[in-house]
Amino acid sequence: MDLTPIIEKLKTGLFINGQWRDAEGGRTLEVRNPANGSVITTIADASEADALDAINAARDAQAGWAATAPRERAEILRRAFDLLHERADDIAAIMTAEMGKPLAESKGEVAYGAEFFRWFSEEAVRVSGDFVQSTDGKNRLMISKEPVGPCVLITPWNFPLAMGTRKIGPAIAAGCTMVLKPAQLTPLTSFMLVEALRDAGLPDGVLNVVTSSSARRVVTPWMESGIARKISFTGSTEVGVNLMKQAAESVMKTSMELGGNAPFLVMDDADIDAAVEGAVLAKMRNNGEACTAANRLYVQKPVAEEFSRKLAERIGSMKVGDGLVDGTQVGPLVDQDQLDKVAELVDQAVGAGATVLTGGKKVEGDGFFFAPTVLTDIPEDATLRVEEIFGPVAPIVTFETDDEAIELANGTEYGLAAYLFSTDLQRSLDLSERIEAGMIGLNTGLVSNPAAPFGGVKHSGLGREGGTSGIDEYLETKYVAVPRTNAK
Ligand code: NAP
Repeated sequence: MDLTPIIEKLKTGLFINGQWRDAEGGRTLEVRNPANGSVITTIADASEADALDAINAARDAQAGWAATAPRERAEILRRAFDLLHERADDIAAIMTAEMGKPLAESKGEVAYGAEFFRWFSEEAVRVSGDFVQSTDGKNRLMISKEPVGPCVLITPWNFPLAMGTRKIGPAIAAGCTMVLKPAQLTPLTSFMLVEALRDAGLPDGVLNVVTSSSARRVVTPWMESGIARKISFTGSTEVGVNLMKQAAESVMKTSMELGGNAPFLVMDDADIDAAVEGAVLAKMRNNGEACTAANRLYVQKPVAEEFSRKLAERIGSMKVGDGLVDGTQVGPLVDQDQLDKVAELVDQAVGAGATVLTGGKKVEGDGFFFAPTVLTDIPEDATLRVEEIFGPVAPIVTFETDDEAIELANGTEYGLAAYLFSTDLQRSLDLSERIEAGMIGLNTGLVSNPAAPFGGVKHSGLGREGGTSGIDEYLETKYVAVPRTNAK
């Protein structure tokens, strides 16, 4: 596919106060295609001064934006939803070029990501308050919700569109201005998102986007500015913890969508074919680079052989290649570091005694490809039992009892997603209550949905995105006490 016409139209600067501009000193950085290492284009590499310009623009726009009618904000989001759909083919092509996932999945992400704009366009006009009497009867308490103020939004590379819309959508709906720092590996999709919002009528200064070769260089000044009132971060637990420490210094509201390490439980009464399909989706979607990816597959002994064999057949037959080529089912990993990390986890497990049913190694040639892999006989000390793999590798461990399954599933500091396959409803619900996770897929390998409160427990984060509570993360509660002169 020739991307030249799309790239020629693409804006690649900093987007501050409604204008595209160069970084201070004209500094740039390259964006590469992980399928072949080629340079797609260059983008602005912001300085600290550029970052301060962005947060100042958000500050200056805040009062006017908060005063707009909810309907006006809703309609901007709704128009942006339509524009994302109109531009879906171009956005998906760019997303695949910079991130690697197969084109069909990128199109799926555009549809999924756009849905957050439609959802929050509907939420914008439903923010409500309350009216109560004080306990002594002497006051009326009028309780309302107000935008929290300028927000810092930081997104990862694995879902370059949806991680942005899941934050920008509720911030716009609530009446907050924002500064966004997309991942440096996948900024181009964010630029196309900005253009859609601008064309939809978003006023200058409401959304400001800064890219940089150093996240710290631009984010730390935002956190220390005293202007930002909220941070919403999606990424690794390690970076999230650091940002929470910085947020504490300025007493900022925080939403943290952090690392995952999802267990995938297959019980002895499961529909095995459905469980295999669920595992393929939960493991292989996004090349295995999803925070919700099934990381540890626990299968009850009587069905383990059948499940492992069928899963290896399905995963072993998946077509690996450049995501822009028709028919590709698994693309490259995002960069050399990610490829090396996955290879190291697999080598360590195999070296310690794991059996390779399919895959197990890097794919020779250009690009960062790892063969879709299924492993069994995973030794107790294999690192991939405890670490997030973030690649197309499915390690299968067997168990005997329900109690053992729960102990294995909960034996991690993470608690984002979990999956459970069983045809016994009572057993499934009893087990679901015992699993420590923010989201559980019961007989399904997909939990993400704009109507659902997405988020985790334990080290997987704080707060929820999407759903009816998603907008609350961008609102503050206020009440006005009014005396009742007729009180006794
Ligand atoms: P990451 O290294 O934490 O990076 C995420 C974002 O934070 C990027 O924009 C990155 O910028 C920025 N960043 C890095 N260091 C920073 C610092 N010191 N201060 C401020 N910002 C900083 O994570 P990743 O490798 O991109 O993404 C993978 C992780 O995200 C996985 O653990 C995955 O589970 C998690 N994730 C979670 C969810 C969820 O909803 N819970 C969703 C998707 C992914 P640069 O690009 O410039 O490094």
